[in-house]
Amino acid sequence: MGIFKPTAMKERLTAISPRLLENLEARAILLDVDNTIASYTSHEPIEGAVDWVREMVTSGFRVIIVSNNYKRRVMPFAARFGLDCISFALKPFPFGYLRARKRLKTPLKNCVIVGDQIFTDVVGANLCGMKSILLSPIEPEEGVTFQIRRRFERGFRKKFAFCEDILS
Ligand SMILES: [Mg+2]
Repeated sequence: MGIFKPTAMKERLTAISPRLLENLEARAILLDVDNTIASYTSHEPIEGAVDWVREMVTSGFRVIIVSNNYKRRVMPFAARFGLDCISFALKPFPFGYLRARKRLKTPLKNCVIVGDQIFTDVVGANLCGMKSILLSPIEPEEGVTFQIRRRFERGFRKKFAFCEDILS
């Protein structure tokens, strides 16, 4: 079950403090897009997300966007946040994580991915030795495969609920 376990859990991106990141020994942040910095149906970031990224960058963290979505979806967010990005990352496979790590010039153990999905964001982090912070999805997705995936996730989220706030 260890492969499904996030390092920490938070409700929203904006609930992640620099202190939590320091406690995780993170120096670089990989940011998911859909249901993490924006609702998957929206082209607008959630309230406070742009300021949150600015605060992290000012605090000395390196930040990059890593999404499984297409370039045309991811690029406008990268531009809006002023960040480098990797689209079509094929999470949970390690390729995108390793490309990101190389660009961030940060050891894997000092990288943390922030995302809303156990079976992509968290599993990929565990496969390549990164940390992960699991968020609650902003808006439930439509479609049967997502509903099944989210149902499995709910079981894990309950099980791992103790992770929340441990390090915050
Ligand atoms: Mg996502």
